[in-house]
Amino acid sequence: AIAYVNGRYRPLREASVNVEDRGFQFGDGIYEVLYVHNHRLADAELHLARLTRSLGEIGLNLTLSPAALLVIIREVLRRNRVSTGLVYMQVTRGAARRDHPFPAVPVRPSLVITARTRPAPPTDIAAWAGSAITLPDERWARCDIKSTNLLPNVLARQKARLSGAYEAILHDSQGYVTEGAASNVWIVDAAGTLRTRPLGQEILPGCTRAAVLEILHGAGIAFAQTPFTLEALRGAREIFLTSATSFVKPITRLDGTSIGNGHPGPAATLLLERYLQHIGAAP
Ligand code: PLP
Repeated sequence: AIAYVNGRYRPLREASVNVEDRGFQFGDGIYEVLYVHNHRLADAELHLARLTRSLGEIGLNLTLSPAALLVIIREVLRRNRVSTGLVYMQVTRGAARRDHPFPAVPVRPSLVITARTRPAPPTDIAAWAGSAITLPDERWARCDIKSTNLLPNVLARQKARLSGAYEAILHDSQGYVTEGAASNVWIVDAAGTLRTRPLGQEILPGCTRAAVLEILHGAGIAFAQTPFTLEALRGAREIFLTSATSFVKPITRLDGTSIGNGHPGPAATLLLERYLQHIGAAP
């Protein structure tokens, strides 16, 4: 495997960044994960626009344009012979003597891009369905920035794994669902309304979420972007997640209890199919 590191393509095993890299020492960086199907990147414009926005929010100035980044992404895919899989990209504020404020004399940001082959998206939605646990959201107040500071997310996902669950669905101190540890959360509530939390500083503006909203608009399917409680989540007819790596993923068990009739529902089924069509992964 080959990694792009600061202008060079290196064997992954030997690829490294400086021990004083601010990404390593402070988590002072931004990242993106993109799915590629059959050489076609899913929602690349959305991911690159979000990268630009996240970098801007933390005052990190990457001189490479989104178009230049796309060229590097394509080259990483080519060198790794990845046609279907995931691209990981990370930008940090670079290497400098350890000190919390930004380096007085700006240093070159570090850019790392890797790619891995992954299976084609699911065709059997019943087999694709998964389970989740609920946990308090212990993250910071700017979850709209896709920062590499992922310790709370890591701890939440580890708890999920130890419980045999796929995802941890997080809730704020008022009992409102924010999002998954690495996904956005949707429900069809007990009254039959399709809902997802509105954008704000509490959640990541998911690119898959945005693509699914577009699909809903295009299909004339009603939905509401309104916060919902843990209670509504537990009583939902359907729960599903969206993310670049999960696509649309039904959650049929929550904290060990079946959701709805325990099977993927019609909304998740339709949206998975439409989303896979959207990324060119279904006829
Ligand atoms: N929310 C969080 C916290 C995430 O980490 C992710 C993606 O990994 C998402 C939501 C979904 O975002 P996207 O659809 O852009 O992958």
